[in-house]
Amino acid sequence: MRPIRPAIFCKEEESLIMSNLTFGIIKPDAVAKGHTGKIIDRIIGAGFTIRGMKLIHQSKRQAEGFYAVHRERPFFGELTEFMSSGPCVVLCLEKDNAVPAWRDLMGATNPAEAAEGTLRKEFAGSIGENAVHGSDSDENASIEIAYFFSKLELV
Ligand code: ADP
Ligand code: MG
Repeated sequence: MRPIRPAIFCKEEESLIMSNLTFGIIKPDAVAKGHTGKIIDRIIGAGFTIRGMKLIHQSKRQAEGFYAVHRERPFFGELTEFMSSGPCVVLCLEKDNAVPAWRDLMGATNPAEAAEGTLRKEFAGSIGENAVHGSDSDENASIEIAYFFSKLELV
């Protein structure tokens, strides 16, 4: 018998890129400070539908795989150390134009430059430990969703 593969990994769906889905993380700093509930409340209040959500504790290797595009950057070691330092919440979020909508709610990478009312302005402590992650394109959103969720875990 052939093993059952989650549909998101099936060949006919490999190129399926949806502009209404994005991937987010409530990073270990925000979870450790007890901000998870407040951030989820803000996500729902901004009109996103949560399609997938789970609390995980990434290994260093998992974080290195997730952030592989940044492996040449000087902060790669610090970033992957931080992302594997404690539990985080991974999210699959749905909304029209989900990628820019979620990045707008997150705010600028550096909280010192983040606009009022954004999550990073309110919850981030530094450019490295900046509370939340969001995909930067529809293509990366579908890759990142598939990195952490099987089809069965998305509703
Ligand atoms: P974003 O998360 O806003 O998409 P990037 O993709 O440029 O930002 O960077 C990925 C993550 O790497 C950031 O969210 C942050 O945690 C970390 N990072 C970015 N720039 C720096 C920096 N100059 N020093 C330390 N960490 C950084
Ligand atoms: Mg990025």
